Amino acid sequence: MISARVPDNETERLEALRILEILDTVPEQGFDDLTLLAATICDTPISLVSLVDGDRQWFKSRRGASLEQTPREFSFCAHAILEPGRIMEVPDTAADSRFTDNPLVTGELHVRFYAGAPLVTDAGHAIGALCVLDHKPRRLEPPQRAALQALARQAAAQLKLRSLHHALQQALESARRYQTELEEYQSRLRKLNMQLHTQAITDPLTGLYNRLALTQQLNQAVARAGRTGEPLSLLLIDVDQFKAFNDSFGHLRGDEALRRIAEILYATAREADIVARYGGEEFLIILPATGSAGALALAERIRQQVQSARWSLRHLTVSIGAVTRQTADPRCSAQLLIEDADAALYRAKASGRNRVMAADPSRD
Ligand code: GH3
Ligand code: MG
Ligand code: MG
Repeated sequence: MISARVPDNETERLEALRILEILDTVPEQGFDDLTLLAATICDTPISLVSLVDGDRQWFKSRRGASLEQTPREFSFCAHAILEPGRIMEVPDTAADSRFTDNPLVTGELHVRFYAGAPLVTDAGHAIGALCVLDHKPRRLEPPQRAALQALARQAAAQLKLRSLHHALQQALESARRYQTELEEYQSRLRKLNMQLHTQAITDPLTGLYNRLALTQQLNQAVARAGRTGEPLSLLLIDVDQFKAFNDSFGHLRGDEALRRIAEILYATAREADIVARYGGEEFLIILPATGSAGALALAERIRQQVQSARWSLRHLTVSIGAVTRQTADPRCSAQLLIEDADAALYRAKASGRNRVMAADPSRD
């Protein structure tokens, strides 16, 4: 037995075979159809699509034979691929020194006749062969030879299409993955945006609405009150003698105290009320649909809650200016409401602190 020599372009040839991703795949109708046609046209009991791998030949389709692969040294097709452009025909293996003692000849398969047409890629690499085998010596007729050659071209075309199809599927799959990643990215971006929005309207020290949010909320509350005709109230709250507190205990303790007061305000206000840090040690609460009695009652409750809270360093108190406007009142604008609340707060301070003062009570 003489094994086939290794083709000169073996490395590139094996790479061409590898990228087809065909080795050790399941049988496919398209290739089984070609071996059926080859065996029928050439009138042989056996036909194979053989792919010549590094150290074996592996059969993508096998008609009339059950073996899946053989060592490359026994391979007839390994000889056939040495001349990619033509069919290799062995009329009688018993009379050909290359094959006389080949196990495929002497063994169960009992090959006496072989004809193989190489499967050639577009780049010219012969990666295997479509072959027909018989148990008796014989020759192919010229039309059979032409048909076997044509079927080998079809097999090569099918290998190429199959590989393109896989590449396309992989591209689609990665496009789908990309789409999913994009959606996840967008969802993260939406969350980040929401966080950013929350940060933009939140006072970092107290977690209450900041001045920006307060302005928006107050404008909205004024507009809503204008539509519903309900009264609107504001409480402007200022911590008493807070500079002295800071001076005595330091700014950090001052910060803690402001956080504590913010908690009291938030806990004491009703759900519909909007609590904001107006600036420094001043807070503002918007009381929608609230008349002066309700506003003053809430302000008084807040004043008492602060006063009766347990303070570890020094007792703190607040002064509160309260304003209520009916929405028909031309002074019911965001700016005038704050100005009036501020004036009331000033009077609360002037009259001794730790108290609630209503703005302009005769007009409420
Ligand atoms: P009044 O009763 O008249 O309101 O006296 P006051 O000392 O509270 O008023 P003043 O306006 O003189 O001082 C306010 C103080 O509030 C001064 C400032 O250092 C302090 N303050 C403002 N913002 C902060 C803050 O974010 N943290 C701390 N720790 N202190 C603050
Ligand atoms: Mg102040
Ligand atoms: Mg103060």
